[in-house]
Amino acid sequence: MTSSHSPGLSAPPHYSCMKRDPHSAARAGVLHTPHGAIPTPIFAPVGTQATVKTLTPDELQALGASLILANTYHLYLRPGADLISSLGGLHSFMRWPAPILTDSGGFQVFSLEGLRRVTDEGVVFRSHIDGSEHEFSPEKSIEIQEKLGADIIMALDECPNPLDCEYNKIALARTHHWAERCLRAHTRQDQALFAILQGGIFADLRRESARVLTSLDFPGYAIGGLSIGEAKSQTWETLDQTVPFLPEDKPRYLMGVGSPEDLFEAVERGIDILDCVLPTRLARNGAVFTSHGRLNLRKAELAADPAPIEEGCGCYTCRNFSRAYLRHLHKSGEVLGLRLNSIHNLYFLLSLIHRIRQAIFDGNLADVKQEFLSQYIPVEDTKQRYGNLARRRKPAVSAKSRIGNAS
Ligand SMILES: [Zn+2]
Repeated sequence: MTSSHSPGLSAPPHYSCMKRDPHSAARAGVLHTPHGAIPTPIFAPVGTQATVKTLTPDELQALGASLILANTYHLYLRPGADLISSLGGLHSFMRWPAPILTDSGGFQVFSLEGLRRVTDEGVVFRSHIDGSEHEFSPEKSIEIQEKLGADIIMALDECPNPLDCEYNKIALARTHHWAERCLRAHTRQDQALFAILQGGIFADLRRESARVLTSLDFPGYAIGGLSIGEAKSQTWETLDQTVPFLPEDKPRYLMGVGSPEDLFEAVERGIDILDCVLPTRLARNGAVFTSHGRLNLRKAELAADPAPIEEGCGCYTCRNFSRAYLRHLHKSGEVLGLRLNSIHNLYFLLSLIHRIRQAIFDGNLADVKQEFLSQYIPVEDTKQRYGNLARRRKPAVSAKSRIGNAS
């Protein structure tokens, strides 16, 4: 593995579109970064604490991952950005040689209901680990993300309840102002700083966000503030009202969305990058993806089932282990069970996004979607991103378990 990363010496990340789907807004392309090319559309596994839980970097690459996420809030609190920087940056620290994206920390801080105070200057918050007080300003978030050294970094944004129109108006002005400050503070030419559009489920606010942020000419645009409590239909309507206002020559990233059926819906609307904790979090809860929907490994009828999770699946887990064994591992609380389930779920999603990308090149995306959805029974899950708004209203004591188990 190589992990050298010299500020200023690498070409800045840039996107090139290779093929457009004639029947939808889907597109296939490549996002070039200093740590390699990311084929898009892509699904990025989440490695909140600089680890995609239970998996080694070699395993992730073997599964087909080409971009992973890490989290600024968590790594700033522990072990600290200076420490990671002194050990060569995040790529070197975690021995991941391929592209990394860091979230700005905004989402986690705004999840700390009762533990934070927001002003136009920034946000003051208390650590969920030890209660110590910290402040994130746009400049501070960029400073931390420059030290971590990811290929793609995010502007600090305010992420409100997507259904609260009045508050979204206030938060949107702040998010836009912060994006400008992030742009001014950002100095590393080898990192792409993406802006995050907000505006909840409100079409006029989303259009306003697209107008303001695209005028600042960021190298990429993320759509934030979704998949945290709104109905799925509202998520897609919001994308319909947003993506057409984003530039064709820049990558588009939908934050925190990524169940199997979501991949089709988002990609068809012109999304290039998705991330979600769902596959790894479900895996640790004993739920695995199959072509017919989710399978709960705790079910009693699997106790003596010799079949793999999915017949024909090429993953290490399915090539070697039975449902009966995986159920046993889960019931016994064995670590290997978490690993094997995570391997299968990530393989399932990464294979699916690769299939979707190929379908764009082959011009048959609609057929592939139809074929997949004719078998797959989705589970309505509108709160994929870390937690949900109901849990946010609970007292601060819940913050540690929610935020500490994010990926
Ligand atoms: Zn499998």
